[in-house]
Amino acid sequence: RGSGRFFIGGNWKCNGTLQSVTQLVDELNAGSVPDSVEIVVAPTFVHLDRVQRTLKAPFQIAAQDCWVSKGGAYTGEVSAEMLHDMGIPWVILGHSERRSLCREDDELVGMKCEYALSQGLKVIACIGETLEQRESGHMWDVLDAQLAAIARHTSLANWADLVIAYEPVWAIGTGVVATPEQAQEVHAYVRKWIAEHVGADVADKLRILYGGSVNDANCATLANLEDVDGFLVGGASLKGPSFINICNAQN
Ligand code: PEP
Repeated sequence: RGSGRFFIGGNWKCNGTLQSVTQLVDELNAGSVPDSVEIVVAPTFVHLDRVQRTLKAPFQIAAQDCWVSKGGAYTGEVSAEMLHDMGIPWVILGHSERRSLCREDDELVGMKCEYALSQGLKVIACIGETLEQRESGHMWDVLDAQLAAIARHTSLANWADLVIAYEPVWAIGTGVVATPEQAQEVHAYVRKWIAEHVGADVADKLRILYGGSVNDANCATLANLEDVDGFLVGGASLKGPSFINICNAQN
């Protein structure tokens, strides 16, 4: 297990109305969460400012993506330095939905990590294989390439501001959660990969999150696994009471 604080991320994806976001913030503010857990929720870009002004500590916020370099003539994009200027501490990069639907490849995700870190953001970098890749025996190659692109674009010092989210694509939004054995196997592999390719100190501290159909019923078992340092939660993060339960998964 990484020595950093247990970490829970909530990825709200492309969801929310002013009313539902206000309700969710109220539910989170009313919840009780342990001091020992770092909690970060990621609203859409349009809701970020509202959530930042209304959500109370200890909750922090993240953007769900950002542009790969300095802002400028990039219609529709939001840059890392803008997020930093707005006081947004975190950004999710390389989520599987962006990798598949927006065709973000490993290299682009690595470059995004590099630029976001250079602008003072902390990064939740997502990796994970598809079912086809797992079943055809390519899972480890896929994970190696995803990790290598991130490692290639980061320095030793950057890793204090990075968490890795392992999200098997077949488990995201499907209700099919990885078994504890499957999750632990990959998390241990990721930690070993980081020890060998980045450094043992980094691997010892690194938080490796599991993501994919985490809910209040399965979170306790997963939270006890040796190399699971937290979760990235999609669907269940839109329900305040469920998300609060997940934040208390270790209790
Ligand atoms: C996610 O999108 O990061 C995710 C894990 O989604 P869900 O929890 O809905 O599977």
